[in-house]
Amino acid sequence: MTFPDIVPDLKARMPELRGRLLANQSLAELTWFRVGGPAQVFYMPEDENDLAYFLRNLPADIPVYVVGAGSNLIVRDGGVPGVVIRLGRGCNEVKVEEGFRVLAGAALLDVMVARAARDAGVSGLSFLSGIPGSIGGALRMNGGAYGGETKDVLIEARGVDRAGDLRTFSNAEMGFAYRHCGVPDDVIFTHAVLQGRAGSTEQIAAEMDAIKKKREASQPRNRTGGSTFKNPPGHSAWKLVDEAGCRGLTIGGAQVSELHSNFLINLGGASAADIETLGETVRARVKEHSGVELEWEIKRIGVTQ
Ligand SMILES: Cc1cc2nc3c(=O)[nH]c(=O)nc-3n(C[C@H](O)[C@H](O)[C@H](O)COP(=O)(O)OP(=O)(O)OC[C@H]3O[C@@H](n4cnc5c(N)ncnc54)[C@H](O)[C@@H]3O)c2cc1C
Repeated sequence: MTFPDIVPDLKARMPELRGRLLANQSLAELTWFRVGGPAQVFYMPEDENDLAYFLRNLPADIPVYVVGAGSNLIVRDGGVPGVVIRLGRGCNEVKVEEGFRVLAGAALLDVMVARAARDAGVSGLSFLSGIPGSIGGALRMNGGAYGGETKDVLIEARGVDRAGDLRTFSNAEMGFAYRHCGVPDDVIFTHAVLQGRAGSTEQIAAEMDAIKKKREASQPRNRTGGSTFKNPPGHSAWKLVDEAGCRGLTIGGAQVSELHSNFLINLGGASAADIETLGETVRARVKEHSGVELEWEIKRIGVTQ
């Protein structure tokens, strides 16, 4: 599918824009699943002020989505009408400050922040090394692994809302819950301030190494979206999927992972529709088998073909 090209109109409206605007940019390579259609407009801001300028001047009826590292995301085959934003320059620095505070740009991969903290002898952030997303994604998803969650370490997050206003949210204002952040969906996070504590570089390195080994043994690391469904209260999603007989279930080029039954994988030639249909089939079978309604953890954006 190709969308009407509105980039020239947007450029004319925003003479001071410094970031890049592209029409009909394919998004498949920007997601771990490697599926999906194009963004009508793909925008890479130069920095936070450029982003604010863009959002202030963008007509209100044009929808906006932000993507991070695409590790918890299905882009549908018909692509995404409106604007898809991906942060980069201006939001990709990490600084360790006094008091074991870590200031991290939202475009940075979580693992880079974990490494910077390790090198500075700041402990408490090594769980981030196990999450293959960006800091923006960790804020939006309240990403967590091996006993640590974003909500445990966040002091405050900064972002820009759809009106182009800069906003700061304290930990309490983030409205964190399990894989959930209560800040309105239109807010694009640009920076986070995280609180660590004193630690030893060797010990933190050992922790990160252990996390890496556990991950490699228990999860597929290629063409997947991580945990597909949230764990329902009192249950493990993977067990419910297993008990419903769905491990290894295949639709088109998509499969429920043999290694971890809450992971879906693209075997190579999957479409986004294959993956989403597989997920819905699993949900229906689990409902029938156990009565539990699984909720998607993976975010799905765009339109079907
Ligand atoms: C192999 C594998 C293992 C995984 N293991 C874990 C795990 O142990 N724990 C865990 O929590 N997750 C895990 N995940 C899921 C995923 O890595 C996390 O949810 C991660 O936080 C998503 O970050 P992302 O940058 O990839 O976000 P994306 O997948 O790009 O987007 C996810 C959501 O975040 C939003 N978002 C992204 N950036 C921003 C921003 N700057 N401002 C506002 N919203 C934003 C998007 O709009 C979307 O709604 C795993 C995924 C994979 C593929």
